[in-house]
Amino acid sequence: MIHLCRVVAALVVLTWGVSTAPALTFNITNQGGATPQMLAAFAEAGALWSAQLKDPITVNVRINAAALPAEVVAHADSFYDPYSYTSVRNALVNDRQSADDISSSNKLQAGSTFSMLINRTANNPNGVVSVTPYFDTGLGGPGQAGPENNNTVRITSANAKALGLYPANSAGLDGTITFTNSAAAFDFDRGNGINAGQLDFVGVAAHELGHMLGFVSGVDILAGNGNAPGLNDNQLRFVTPLDLFRFTSRSIGVGGGIGVNDWTADNIAKSFSVDGGTTPLAEFSTGSIYEESHWKNNLGLGIMNPTVSAGELLAISINDLRAFDVIGYDFVTVPEPSPFVLAALGLGLLALRKKYRRS
Ligand SMILES: [Zn+2]
Repeated sequence: MIHLCRVVAALVVLTWGVSTAPALTFNITNQGGATPQMLAAFAEAGALWSAQLKDPITVNVRINAAALPAEVVAHADSFYDPYSYTSVRNALVNDRQSADDISSSNKLQAGSTFSMLINRTANNPNGVVSVTPYFDTGLGGPGQAGPENNNTVRITSANAKALGLYPANSAGLDGTITFTNSAAAFDFDRGNGINAGQLDFVGVAAHELGHMLGFVSGVDILAGNGNAPGLNDNQLRFVTPLDLFRFTSRSIGVGGGIGVNDWTADNIAKSFSVDGGTTPLAEFSTGSIYEESHWKNNLGLGIMNPTVSAGELLAISINDLRAFDVIGYDFVTVPEPSPFVLAALGLGLLALRKKYRRS
């Protein structure tokens, strides 16, 4: 298996433009290293998302090819901005179209700050950068230097566009995606399956676009705060919209409650939930081996898995779509999240994968 990517943060450059777009559109430009084959396959990857998400925004992506570390096939550098938690909650409420939107936004914490389970802070009452978790309520108390990390949400510019927090067709760059320039690495044609020994370029491109659209976790940054002196809680203003739906039984239990997210960097299983943590739907990646901005590996949870195998066709799953739905995107067709439909879709994806593996 090969590590899909590293997610790198950058500050957004504010530029404003006016145009119209009927649906989620990708404006793809070449940074210089991408081949015509890459550009064509990348457009195919964008179409996979455009077929599912109807938000009338334009996402500006620059693509490139370069030498990358051996275990990494691509990485996404997205632009981010901080927004107040209140404005993000209001935007999520205003964006409600599906049953998941209603359920998930109803369980968002009230008020201008949100409580979270956290660890690895410099001011952790259990010891400097201790991995032992504690509740950071934003209301003051042990391990709380200020509410800044409890009232701020950090959002990719593409996600902010979907939420109406940023001009939908702003011409500024939303991010850059860099692929390995190793010629042997990719199969660009999904029509006949993915060749043994090669990687699904369109699938990898769609995965990286998924990060740019907002499938990212600030826990990746917290995980790097493990050495003293480290940063205090209020300096770690990196909770993303997706992190608002990251829960454990301990975050919704004693000292926390329904809707209190688990923003710790440790090996305890964290789950995506659309009802404030009561019902876990899919596990997020944890620990230091695989990045936090992904589903847990090897469970077939979706295109936002952290690794890809040679010969594997990557597909957008119902888990992927439900996550994008609750962070502010809207479906072309709203899928009913009933157990029957979920099971049927799961089987469909499984059958598709098996078919392509055989061919
Ligand atoms: Zn990734």
